[in-house]
Amino acid sequence: MFAGPIQDLVDELGRLPGIGPKSAQRIAFYLLKVAKEDALRLAGAIVEVKERTRLCVRCFNVGEHELCAICSDSRRDPSMVCVVEDPRDIVAVERTREFRGTYHVLGGALNPIEGVGPEQLRVRELLARIDTEQVSEVILCTNPNLEGEATAIYLARLLAPMSIRVTRIASGLPVGGDLEYADALTLGRALEGRREIAG
Ligand SMILES: [Zn+2]
Repeated sequence: MFAGPIQDLVDELGRLPGIGPKSAQRIAFYLLKVAKEDALRLAGAIVEVKERTRLCVRCFNVGEHELCAICSDSRRDPSMVCVVEDPRDIVAVERTREFRGTYHVLGGALNPIEGVGPEQLRVRELLARIDTEQVSEVILCTNPNLEGEATAIYLARLLAPMSIRVTRIASGLPVGGDLEYADALTLGRALEGRREIAG
């Protein structure tokens, strides 16, 4: 539809989540118009994030080193593990300032329709951590939607035979919503009001 490089840019932008063909065109033409250094700064930021970030070998949070900033902080309590779907959820929980333990990023939630089973999530890695890190409580902090609830119930069943406390963040969060959009106060209360979940 457009000259070579412009079409390439439109195509690439159109692959981004939430960007439809119209938005892709609008952003592409915006980038054509802005000062070269502004566009190159964006390109540079993309290169930097791909070259300088990696997943933490322990909790799968994003960071710059083998261990993320939270895992390498000796003031964090390793006996408490907050299980989240996505690294963005860690940011949401950290904003509450209610949690001083560590995290485990599953990398999504169970979703049979989209072919996401336990093998596609970092469940095995979680079990290994519970085994080796003297974890005493696992807080299931998956999203308050269908997939997040199903994941929490699945994990609660899986963890039931282990002699640890398994809790689920309290209800009160907007149902069907994403943790990352919950305000810090609400999420903080949900964490504080967490309950043991039967497996
Ligand atoms: Zn980590």
